[in-house]
Amino acid sequence: MKIEHVGVVGAGQMGSGIAQVCAAAGLRVTVCDRHQEAIDNGIKAIQSSLQRMVAKEKISGAELEAILGRISTSTRTEDLAAVDIAIEAATEDEAIKTVIFKDLDRTCKEGAILATNTSSISITRLAASTRRPGQVIGMHFMNPVPMMKLVEVIRGLQTEDAVFEQVTAMAEAIGKVPVDVRDSFGFVANRILLPMINEAIFCLYETLASAEEIDTVMKLGMSHPMGPLALADLIGLDTCLSIMEVLHEGFNDSKYRPCPLLKQMVDAGYLGRKSGRGFYHYG
Ligand code: NAD
Repeated sequence: MKIEHVGVVGAGQMGSGIAQVCAAAGLRVTVCDRHQEAIDNGIKAIQSSLQRMVAKEKISGAELEAILGRISTSTRTEDLAAVDIAIEAATEDEAIKTVIFKDLDRTCKEGAILATNTSSISITRLAASTRRPGQVIGMHFMNPVPMMKLVEVIRGLQTEDAVFEQVTAMAEAIGKVPVDVRDSFGFVANRILLPMINEAIFCLYETLASAEEIDTVMKLGMSHPMGPLALADLIGLDTCLSIMEVLHEGFNDSKYRPCPLLKQMVDAGYLGRKSGRGFYHYG
């Protein structure tokens, strides 16, 4: 099956980015979120990202219009019935994703691929919640999606080879570099990245240095383009906490225990950039 029509579930920062790169590559996209406000914000984010590209003369005004014209929106999963692949990019919560996968499995046409952009949750378990486990796969994009080249492609135990090949080819067709990664909690990217971020939060919690100083150490000392605390704010502290919890519970290893400060920040609603406040303040 040729992939021509993509469904994206979740219009947050990742879902909107995925919709943008798919539409920019010429695919038809339907973005679905349960909240109309999230859809409106997602479309606004795509518009401003594309306008920045026009300003930099990377695309023309006509291309901007054509890309936006390929994106439709909906608050109902039923409108994804005809897609060739649905990419789920909703909140990092296994219970929420399981409900979405069951819903997509009921709704999407036979043969459609069900992919998830989860950062950490078992693909094998999500696949097992559907009646088409062979067509379920992980497609883990990086943030911000239009800028970052990597996509981890993660096969569940049940994923068919043909599905893996199709998704790998699709990732390449939308300008990404796919890497074949085995299904394990946090895959590779977040198995390495999140414990580092969590340790940076412990450094702040134990008052070893200020947030700015911790980030400066990692930027100037390790040549990281962004410090770990600023990166945590970009990812979203709720997402960071969910990933640490998946690693902690999944491996049953205390080295992955989330820092108490991370839990407190999430309890306070300080989620990073998306809420206007995290380790830093945003306008
Ligand atoms: P976000 O909070 O910005 O957006 C999540 C969206 O999901 C919201 O718009 C919410 O309304 C929607 N949603 C929640 N439940 C839904 C449902 N039942 N049906 C439809 N929509 C629903 O989160 P995000 O940062 O975009 O993350 C989304 C996914 O991408 C998560 O699985 C996350 O782990 C993963 N991810 C995040 C990053 C990152 O840096 N933030 C990077 C890679 C992968």
